[in-house]
Formats: sequence, structure tokens, C-alpha cells
Amino acid sequence: APDSPGRPAPIRALTIASSDSGGGAGIQADLKAFARCGVHGMSAIVALTAQNTVGVNAVHECPPDFILAQLDAIFDDLPPAAIKTGMLFSEQIITTVAQALAGRDVPLVVDPVMIASSGAQLLREDAVGALVELLFPLATVITPNLMEAQALTGLGSEDRAEIAEALVAMGARGVLVTGGHGQQHIDHLYADGQHLDIPVPRYPVAATHGAGCTHSAALAACLARGLPVAQAARQAALVAASAVKHGLVGLGAGDGPVDVL
Ligand code: PLP
Repeated sequence: APDSPGRPAPIRALTIASSDSGGGAGIQADLKAFARCGVHGMSAIVALTAQNTVGVNAVHECPPDFILAQLDAIFDDLPPAAIKTGMLFSEQIITTVAQALAGRDVPLVVDPVMIASSGAQLLREDAVGALVELLFPLATVITPNLMEAQALTGLGSEDRAEIAEALVAMGARGVLVTGGHGQQHIDHLYADGQHLDIPVPRYPVAATHGAGCTHSAALAACLARGLPVAQAARQAALVAASAVKHGLVGLGAGDGPVDVL
């Protein structure tokens, strides 16, 4: 369709992730973050969770051919300017997604979602190897929180620069180690051989469900808008911190979700 006169074509970003029926994290948080960052959000849903603020009750995987059908539909008509991946759950899903993304020259943020703050397993243990081997090499930036970064590297250290270098050695082009829940709020970016500490505004942490999803989606949106990685990481930190500040305390009986305004 022709562009409307005087109006730039909308910028498009894609999330490949899982649904949170409670509306707090996953695809639902990603689409809110995309909207907040002024980009049109598209989604390829790879699994559904039956979830609320208290926990994850069940996970239902999407068949690989239907994951590919979603991605084909999107790429045929709505090629994204950046992509993020979130909860991918199984080796089969990761293999399918990696196959569909290989060779595409689009900035890719891989959020290695592993365990929810509620304790639910969002990535099967037997799928961690596939995530590292198949998706890290395709990623512009991976965005583990400190706990995920430690789990992935086997390093117990709190030294984010050291951990980030280990993750780059595992295949990622760039790494953003995010503050994570209830930890010291400094994000650390290691990309293009440069280390950058990003201080993050601190807010009383009362409702943090979906903070990580929001963070990586905002990063993808900023890359879609053409920002260099370091500027995109600074912007994404502000969006995530603001979402925590406006967290929906008291929404349900458990950990309330963050909210982007
Ligand atoms: N559910 C889904 C579908 C997710 O993608 C995520 C995080 O990425 C979570 C739950 C966990 O969210 P949190 O650990 O912020 O509570």
C-alpha cells in the first residue's frame, strides 16, 4: 500500500515469544513496550502459558509448522526492522525459530528467558544447549539478567564485565546483562569490544512481573528505530525502569506486572 502523504511508513518490530494469559509478561508485555516505543508490534506466538500473577499452571507448545506459518505471514508482508525472542521453552521451538531467522539481516535481541520470578521453568533444561548453539550466533545482543548470565556461563561472579565477555565467547555478538529483580540496578553492555555500565534509576520494587520482557522488547524497538546499540540500551533501561515504577501493585494476589504508560 502507498504511504500516506506526509506520514512516514510505520516502523515494525517483531516478538517471537510466548503468551502470558495474565497479561503481565511475554507477548503481552512485548506489545505494550513496542507501542510505548512508537513502533508497530507483530507477534509469532510459540507457546501459550496458563498463567496469572501467582504462577504458571500449564504450558502448551505451538506446532513447528504453525510457528513457521506465522513467521512466513509476517515476513511476506510486514518485514520487521528488528526482532526479539523471549520464552522459547523447548529445543524443538528453538530449532524452528533459528531455522526461520538464519540468514536474515535484521537486528535480533535474544532474551534468554529461563526461569520466572515465580520459579516456573520457562526454558526446559534440555533446551539450554540449543539456545546457546543456534540462537546466540544470530543475536545482535542477548539480554540475560545477572542470574541467567551466571547460569549460562557457570560463573558465580558478580563481575558483569567478566560474565559478559564469557557470553560473547559463547557466540553472541553483544551482551546486555540487566539488573534483574531486586539486585543492584546497573545494566552492563558489552558490544563491539566496548564495555559500558548503564546506571538504572532505582524505584521501590513492588511489581516486577514482565520487567525483563519489557526491557528486551524496548531494546528491540529502539534498534528498529535505528539507534546504535549503546543508545538503544540506555533508552531500554529507562523504559524498563519506568515500567517498574508504574507497576500494577495489587492487580492480583501475586507479583503484579510492570506497566508502560
Ligand atoms: N511468562 C512468560 C510468557 C514470559 O515470557 C516471562 C518472562 O520472560 C515470564 C512469564 C516471567 O516473567 P517474570 O519473571 O518477570 O515474572
